[in-house]
Amino acid sequence: MATIQAIEARSVHQIQSGQVIVDLCSVAKELIENSLDAGATSIEVRFKNNGLDLVEVQDNGSGIASENYENVALKHYTSKLSTYDDLASLNTFGFRGEAISSLCALSDFHVITAQANQVPRANRLDFEQSGKLRKTQIVAGQKGTTASVEGIFKRLPVRRRELEKNIKREYGKVLNLLHAYACISTGVKFSVKNTVGKTRNVVVFSTNGNVTTRENIANVYGAKTLSALIALDLDLEYEPSTAMKRAGDGDGLNRIQVQGHISKPVFGEGRQTPDRQMFFVNTRPCGLPQIAKAFNEVYKSFNVSQSPFIFADFKMDTDAYDVNVSPDKRMILLHDAGALIESLKTSLAQLFEAADQTVPQSQV
Ligand code: ADP
Ligand code: MG
Repeated sequence: MATIQAIEARSVHQIQSGQVIVDLCSVAKELIENSLDAGATSIEVRFKNNGLDLVEVQDNGSGIASENYENVALKHYTSKLSTYDDLASLNTFGFRGEAISSLCALSDFHVITAQANQVPRANRLDFEQSGKLRKTQIVAGQKGTTASVEGIFKRLPVRRRELEKNIKREYGKVLNLLHAYACISTGVKFSVKNTVGKTRNVVVFSTNGNVTTRENIANVYGAKTLSALIALDLDLEYEPSTAMKRAGDGDGLNRIQVQGHISKPVFGEGRQTPDRQMFFVNTRPCGLPQIAKAFNEVYKSFNVSQSPFIFADFKMDTDAYDVNVSPDKRMILLHDAGALIESLKTSLAQLFEAADQTVPQSQV
């Protein structure tokens, strides 16, 4: 029998990194979440060749303190969480200190960063594949951080080829994800640019650092979209399963708010495949397939031929869900999802029944 032995550290790092950063969406997601966690009010995303050559995110957030340079890209080094117990009260996107370490393993990665007291100087940090700091260099820069990912998956040939083959579709998915972050992030200016061939830095879309999500939606999808939307503002109440019952919680019911915007029942998107549907848990964009299904089912009972625009943020206690389900953190486990969905369906049907049934003038 072959000897059982440990896989060498570098290979382990490669394997794990490929699970954290699974595709182009993961790259954009991790960099944007870091910028939001750093308190940025302005975020510029730049692609070269739809992301194949470069994904770069520049923010005006806190910058990285020089005493942290050595640790930025080391696996499980984070400034956001120190014990497992903190996870229940998490209010940052990041918490595992894995993204930058993984990007070092999978691409040519560097950052340029400056804290307020350092400008106009900034530091460029280059890392080894392992995440070890290779060199620092003083460059000119503004307050904040620019993270650059060049040649993603260059060391995973199969995945790189797949990405090249499907780049149009993958880039489309990234834009949908960026729309979601731009719409939910009130007070943050987003700008997304792409350079393909000689057409340099074409603005793909941008928002103006608006106060409301409605204004963000108007910036991203066009002001016309708004006239076909109604406000989503639901208070859901449902019986928790016994395992989740907490002592001393008043009447013991779970309460969740759902806030956002949805197509009027009479006037949806008229698209075959619903692609303007965004779901959030406490402003964290995430895939909620069961919830999406419930929304679409109820909508279908009012409008058979169209699918709705959906922008829905579920506000709930941080101990009512678990974000630590999959390495790429896109799955969220909701406790008592069944009861939540039943309550959601009832409330949605009531909302649609009471809604204005007139087709907006601009859409006639
Ligand atoms: P996590 O976000 O889980 O902490 P990351 O690997 O994404 O892990 O980032 C590691 C650390 O690097 C963060 O905890 C943070 O301190 C720092 N960092 C990363 N990106 C930025 C940024 N854009 N601005 C400021 N600090 C950053
Ligand atoms: Mg992070």
